[in-house]
Amino acid sequence: MAAKSQHIEPNKKYEVIILGGGESGVGAAVLAKIKGLDVFLTDAGQLAPLYERELEEHDIPFEQGGHTENLVLNASLIVKSPGIPEKNELVKKIRAKNIQVISEIELAYRYKGDSKIVGITGTNGKSTTTSLIYHICKEAGLDVALVGNIGISIARQVALKPKALYVAEISSFQLDDIQHFRPDIAILLNITEDHLDRYEYDIQKYIQSKFKIVQNQKPGDYFIYNIDDPLITGHLKNISISSNLLPFSMKQEVSKGAYIKNSEMLIKLQEEQVSMNIYDFVALKGKHNQYNTMAAGIAASVLDIRKEKIRSAVQTFESLAHRMEFVATIRGVDFINDSKGTNLNSVWFALESMEKPTVLIMGGVDKGNDYTLIADLVSEKVKAIVCIGLDNQKIAEAFKDIVPQIVQTASMKDAVEQAYHLAEKGDAVLLSPGCSSFDLFKNYMDRGDQFKENVKNL
Ligand code: ADP
Repeated sequence: MAAKSQHIEPNKKYEVIILGGGESGVGAAVLAKIKGLDVFLTDAGQLAPLYERELEEHDIPFEQGGHTENLVLNASLIVKSPGIPEKNELVKKIRAKNIQVISEIELAYRYKGDSKIVGITGTNGKSTTTSLIYHICKEAGLDVALVGNIGISIARQVALKPKALYVAEISSFQLDDIQHFRPDIAILLNITEDHLDRYEYDIQKYIQSKFKIVQNQKPGDYFIYNIDDPLITGHLKNISISSNLLPFSMKQEVSKGAYIKNSEMLIKLQEEQVSMNIYDFVALKGKHNQYNTMAAGIAASVLDIRKEKIRSAVQTFESLAHRMEFVATIRGVDFINDSKGTNLNSVWFALESMEKPTVLIMGGVDKGNDYTLIADLVSEKVKAIVCIGLDNQKIAEAFKDIVPQIVQTASMKDAVEQAYHLAEKGDAVLLSPGCSSFDLFKNYMDRGDQFKENVKNL
């Protein structure tokens, strides 16, 4: 493929080649350059103008619109962006040549010095938990940065604005290519089927990838995990972990970690114990958020943040957009935007937290969903489904016997109007699609923004 290129020397042997020029790739390139490495970035698509400018400012050579294969296969180290799958032809050639491939978080780890990392992974709840921990740390006055999938890449932060503590949202794709990456505090929120297309439809591979977050941990480190999650506890039986285990649960009391009993959340490490009433959580509603808060509370306690600070920060936390975000009440109908609910597990938790009869807007690009997972909650709480997407036959099939009304729409305007029409005073309309957004929208944020826009136009 011809590559649109700048300053290319096709036979040069670079110390590092960065594959992919999104936030993590450009962050990695900047870090490599600042640390004195001879670096080149290549992207098969088009770079955002902002990133292009940044590379030029740092005098980093790059190409876009295709890869100069020779250059890539000449490298001794490749930083692969998390979005590029193994089935990519160039990646296959790189693997066949046994070139060292690492992810951006691995590169960042190598240069972070003495700073500490709290790494958060799991299928759902990563952004919420990462933001909550960051908020608590910030309120407690720590020198902390919020990094990873949620915004600024760790590499960029390490390169341009190093901090004593990084609170990092980490996807399994980032974990796939680590070697020494070791968070001081690792959090595994939950594991349910998602992204299985990237793991050859093998849930074990996905589980192993998530557990890489603990693979390099040492005895002084901490592993915070959901002991109510059968996939997590099942895998824990088969591996040995060197760090301190701090489980959290809603179903059992734990001697160290956190649990909820009679609406009280207890976080216990040493003698010190933090207790909070779950009804005091203003923005963190629903069971899923109670799990996220337990994980965050344990991490904050491990970081030695005082209990009064933890308690007040949990209360002042503001929920993130597109995650069970309250939009408006119109003629007695509540509208809730959960556009980030892109898999059925998050739809399950979204429905679980609904207290009013619900008109559910769902659909989009199906990632192999098994709709029976939410059938019980749907029949209990959902009075109508408005499908949104180009092909929602599967949803209609799955629910035709349990939901009285199912309608098909192919635009957000139509979906919002239909939902409003189907709802009565005292009901709620919930957008929680359980699918990706790419058939009709740029991404989940665009989908959520269009939802809010159309609700406001009602
Ligand atoms: P992630 O960053 O892992 O995608 P978010 O915090 O952005 O997670 O939340 C994504 C969606 O998942 C939200 O719509 C929310 O309703 C749901 N969710 C949040 N936390 C949890 C959890 N602990 N378990 C299950 N679902 C959750």
